Amino acid sequence: MVSIDDRYYQMHPKSAELSVEAETLFPDGVTHDGRKLLPFRVYMDRGLGPKKWDVDGNEYIDYKTGHGSMILGQAHPDVVKAVQERMSKGTHLSASTQEEVKWATIVKQLVPYAGKMRFQSSGTEAMMMTFRMARAYSGKSKIVKFENAFHGWGDSPFVGASGDNPNNGIPSTVRDSMVVIPYDINELERVLDNDNDIAGVVFQGNQVINPTFIRSLRDVTKAKGVILIFDEVVSGFRYSKSGCGGRYGVEPDISGWAKILAGGLPGGCVLGRADIIDMIAPGKITHPGTFNANPLSAAAGSTALNILASQPIIEIAEERAIQLKNGFNQILTKMEIPGCAYGVSSIVSMRLGIDHECDREYCEEAEQAMMVGVSNDVEALLGRALTNEGVWGGPTGYILSATHTEKDINNTLDKFERAIVQVRDEGSI
Ligand code: PMP
Repeated sequence: MVSIDDRYYQMHPKSAELSVEAETLFPDGVTHDGRKLLPFRVYMDRGLGPKKWDVDGNEYIDYKTGHGSMILGQAHPDVVKAVQERMSKGTHLSASTQEEVKWATIVKQLVPYAGKMRFQSSGTEAMMMTFRMARAYSGKSKIVKFENAFHGWGDSPFVGASGDNPNNGIPSTVRDSMVVIPYDINELERVLDNDNDIAGVVFQGNQVINPTFIRSLRDVTKAKGVILIFDEVVSGFRYSKSGCGGRYGVEPDISGWAKILAGGLPGGCVLGRADIIDMIAPGKITHPGTFNANPLSAAAGSTALNILASQPIIEIAEERAIQLKNGFNQILTKMEIPGCAYGVSSIVSMRLGIDHECDREYCEEAEQAMMVGVSNDVEALLGRALTNEGVWGGPTGYILSATHTEKDINNTLDKFERAIVQVRDEGSI
């Protein structure tokens, strides 16, 4: 029988060639660290709805969905039309446009606490801006964040993130401006009581954690008069129409958004209390940016968000995710493999090798193991087996869209079971 790795080579000859070329062009051969794959990378060519095809013509069910930005699936016809129409009228007019007003109007309709907002081009930029606003507003200099949380790759947001290290060029002065603490409300209270230079506390909205923690964050920051910042880059327009905040009934003071916000094009946004967002003002924060609210992203974003506002997009994606998660857990149980599939809303995570009981939703044990990025050879081999089977994403993370059908999920579960059997046949599980 052909091994998983031999089959991977046989199925992807063009990708293998491109990978060799890319090694000479990009560090690690990739343009995003999360796209590293062994023994080489698969190169994608096109997508439609929940499917993708690589340069060798192999078909995949997509569970990366534009790193979470494509909740409407690939190439949604209305989004394509909006972008094409905007494209033909010029892509950058070096001026304010109607599109940005339309975009902000639907954002404000969906997120009740969006007093005002500013658009950027990515989640990283949005999060950097939230920190700057909190500092400018409070006159204080430090931001409290939680261990391993990812708020983008910028200097401040990346401090304390999984993978942060002393050799990555982040200056010690920036490190000194970030206070990294465990997910522990008592510890947060202790820090806020003892350090009077804290401008804000930032929480990653898609962190899988019991909602009581999130509600306590609001109570504590309010009591201490410190700005609460949510990172809604992943959870925004996915956990609910108004993100993690809406799902759990918690309003932060300001938040950073991206991904779904821009309908699959680049885009970011900071929104919240008008008195804080108005720190962008002469003599205070300056915020030029060539591609701020660029008309293409504005057109894609407002079209996508209007669809999301009027159709049960979030609900369908979540229903499919529950079907997928339950199916995964049944297979793991049947095959007596320790681990679990867990997760909130339309994101499913999986961790193998941990023998434990959990509610399959807020599994903090599995989440902590995921956050510190423990390498796991079995998961890597299973990932290649899944790729061969035509499942893109996984085995540790699956982000769904509303275009995934029940049939797509059933097919995925069949493919997953076949992949697991192959890994077992090779003696790895
Ligand atoms: N915050 C979170 C929680 C993220 O997952 C990401 C990116 N995946 C970012 C911020 C940064 O967003 P971007 O990649 O658009 O810069």
